[in-house]
Amino acid sequence: MKVDIGNLLQLQTIDLQINKLDEEMAEGVAEIEKRQATIAERQAAIGELEAKLEACEKRRRELDAELEDETARIKERQTKLMSVQTNREYQSLLKEIEDGKKNNKQREDESVQLLEQVELLQRRLEEQRNQCGAEEGLLSEATQKVGSLKDELTAKREEIVKSREEKVKDVDAALLRRYELLRSRRNGKALAAVTDGVCKGCYMNIPPQLYIELQKAEQLLACPSCNRLMYHERESEGA
Ligand SMILES: [Zn+2]
Repeated sequence: MKVDIGNLLQLQTIDLQINKLDEEMAEGVAEIEKRQATIAERQAAIGELEAKLEACEKRRRELDAELEDETARIKERQTKLMSVQTNREYQSLLKEIEDGKKNNKQREDESVQLLEQVELLQRRLEEQRNQCGAEEGLLSEATQKVGSLKDELTAKREEIVKSREEKVKDVDAALLRRYELLRSRRNGKALAAVTDGVCKGCYMNIPPQLYIELQKAEQLLACPSCNRLMYHERESEGA
């Protein structure tokens, strides 16, 4: 009996095409998910920066109010200076004015530092927002691309699956089961070409006697190393 591995080979070609389409689709979906994750990270960073900025600005407003109050108090005391009766009272007012000025100087220094901090935060915030916006643009592009790819791939897949259904009818049921089992265990490839005594599924040499048998193509033979169903292929055919 001559073994006809042709139908199985055609089936494998069809199955590999289906796998390739599925992989293409999965890649597109993975790209979308990656971009979504990046955007979420950026949004979290933006949220943090906004909170820091808000805290700095709140502190600056507090300092401004304190400065204003203190300045008013200093002015009051300066006015009072004109009408004090005793030297002790005069000295005490002077001291209060000095302390007030010292406190305000500290407030001004802190406020300047805060302003620098605010400017830095605003720059970083703008940077993050720009990058986030760019990332959102890329996401929308990827989503669109995957959307149209999906339509295209679904149509292609349906066609291929139909041809598979036809092809399967030509393959013996027991052989088909063996093929499916190998396919699931051997990364989608149940069949392997053998060229010059080397199995192209696992790149191992097959024993010379088995290679002779294979070339007679009288029975279905499996590779002793990877178990794939073998078929002989001359070097020129494979290239
Ligand atoms: Zn092998």
